[in-house]
Amino acid sequence: MEQYVCNYCGKKHAITPVIWKCTCGGVLNLIKDTPKINVASWPRYPNSLWRYLETMPFEKESKTWKSITMGEGQTPLIVLDTLEPNTYVKVDYMMPTLSFKDRGAAVLMTKAKELGVSKVIADSSGNAGTAIAAYAARCNIACDIYLSDETSPKKIAQVKAHGATIKQIQGSRADIAEAAQQAIKEEEVFYASHVYNPYFYEGTKTYAYEIYEELNGALDTLIIPVGNGTLLLGAFYGFKELFANGLIDKMPKIIAIQAVNCSPLVEAFNNGDLSAQPVMNKGTLAEGIAIAAPARSPQILEAVRETNGDFITIEEDEILSARAKLSDKGFYVEVTTAANYAGYLKYKKEPEEKIIVPLCGAGIKSK
Ligand SMILES: *Cc1c(COP(=O)(O)O)cnc(C)c1O
Ligand SMILES: [Zn+2]
Repeated sequence: MEQYVCNYCGKKHAITPVIWKCTCGGVLNLIKDTPKINVASWPRYPNSLWRYLETMPFEKESKTWKSITMGEGQTPLIVLDTLEPNTYVKVDYMMPTLSFKDRGAAVLMTKAKELGVSKVIADSSGNAGTAIAAYAARCNIACDIYLSDETSPKKIAQVKAHGATIKQIQGSRADIAEAAQQAIKEEEVFYASHVYNPYFYEGTKTYAYEIYEELNGALDTLIIPVGNGTLLLGAFYGFKELFANGLIDKMPKIIAIQAVNCSPLVEAFNNGDLSAQPVMNKGTLAEGIAIAAPARSPQILEAVRETNGDFITIEEDEILSARAKLSDKGFYVEVTTAANYAGYLKYKKEPEEKIIVPLCGAGIKSK
């Protein structure tokens, strides 16, 4: 039986439908052995992120995922421009709800279904809420999504379409999380949080597995947007598992992207701090990475440092020009995702350096 362990004090906890943080307030991780990767098992599964089911902490005979999957995963890895043959984009906006959050939501909601929960609550800047709402609908589980009243109307319409109840909150992203956590406490329901629930990262780790298959080996550098770090940490854990199994011979360097106007992790990284202090969000077009107080900041900083990575910050005008440049190449992305490409354009690469830039969210999601 899997258990949770507190990332801060080390206390162990049984996995129940209502637990989401430690009694000390720390975030929870899963206690598990590094999975033994059996590449030969992959073709036995449909062409989706469920190819890697046997590396995830589910019972071996578990079939729950079969009624929940919408074919998420196995997104294309494409050379962006033939003049730069070593730069790839991974097109994660080609997902059921049009963002990478489906990776985590599919796996997390499968776990929720196995735990027998009848209702979930989540808070989100938009895309995580959309993904949780869609997979909750697949699971026939009731769902409340807490969002800012400034969330892109298209994302709100998506959440609504899946039958979730929308709770629009005035205030900061932290206020919205606080409201959701208060409701969790009062209603004693499952917190389907992409930030707090470690099963979400079991989904986002498939990002690394897919890249391994698509490249037939390692890459040098992964540009990664970071707000709460759910893609960054998932990718990092996935590559670590591949590395521990001897499938890749080095870890990719993680280059994390934040908006200048909301960059708590950059400040901590540059100061050599082990965790980030909350900042004031000065407002950025990149709503999906505008997280002033990321709950997993120690783990994010550790991941970037361990891979000899770095942070790059993006100005507002760089976001819009990067979005236009991607559109010129045929890729229509949401505004937040343009920041990733802006980061790539500022990154000083070596000749032959093999780099991946994630295209995380679809253009029609934002204004
Ligand atoms: C969620 C999201 C991000 C940031 O992910 P974090 O988990 O907060 O680091 C980046 N881009 C898009 C499109 C997203 O939906
Ligand atoms: Zn603790």
